[in-house]
Amino acid sequence: MSELPRSFSHSSASTFKQCPRRWKHKYIDKLPDPTGEAALVGQFAHDVLEQLCKEEPALRTETKAKEIAGSIWPKVAERKDFKNLKLNSNEQREFRWKSWNAIKGLWDLEDPSMISVEATEQRVSTSLSGVPFFGIIDRLDRDEDGLVVVDYKTGKLPRYGDDNFNQVLLYAAAVASKTGEQPARARLLYLGKKTMETEVSADLVGKVVKDLSDAWSKLKSNLNNDEFEPITTPLCGWCSFIAKCPAGTEFIKKRASSGKLRSDAPARSALGL
Ligand code: SF4
Repeated sequence: MSELPRSFSHSSASTFKQCPRRWKHKYIDKLPDPTGEAALVGQFAHDVLEQLCKEEPALRTETKAKEIAGSIWPKVAERKDFKNLKLNSNEQREFRWKSWNAIKGLWDLEDPSMISVEATEQRVSTSLSGVPFFGIIDRLDRDEDGLVVVDYKTGKLPRYGDDNFNQVLLYAAAVASKTGEQPARARLLYLGKKTMETEVSADLVGKVVKDLSDAWSKLKSNLNNDEFEPITTPLCGWCSFIAKCPAGTEFIKKRASSGKLRSDAPARSALGL
């Protein structure tokens, strides 16, 4: 039997709920799971905004952000994941352009010089209902109502559902558990697009902590039985482990032959489709 992980993040829990087999390959077998271009763009933007928000409020300008982006770029270009993308010079320029668009999208949503920032990239590790939770909070602000948990998003806007706030509500629960102060609100900044916000109520926090605890219990049972069932969904098209997964391979081949597999799905090259 494999050992229980020392911590359970929102990302780990999401992967487990999406597909236990995928979780096993990533967290137990530790098979390579390279970061794709969109996620690298997001990381670059996060790194720039983290440094920007550590500056004095008056210095949080677009000019400063550009300067920080220029100083960080050489490190991004040296990353193994970035090199693996094998982008030519035009594609690298496009990568920088996409990243800058995300970064400057902050000013479409707020004026960062007016924000009272308490912490950036705040690591929080605590027990939530017996689950050893770990997370990194993009930004913790304080306004007239109290603490606000903030998470930057560079992907598409979510289409529906209340689940979008699960991550920031868990962070709010973790902050309350660590500091004794319950954040007042949790906010998602979809850079360049839209701000989404929720009150942090006991009901909402209770629900996400229970979901986390249920996933943790199921994980313990799967580990005990050494059973990690594959759950096939369209996301198999973006799973790094598709070539090792007969169920996912069959599912994706069917989608490809019926014209349902997106042309940009990495599974196409992984399976030679
Ligand atoms: S290919 Fe699909 S079913 Fe297989 S591990 Fe990946 S996500 Fe799970």
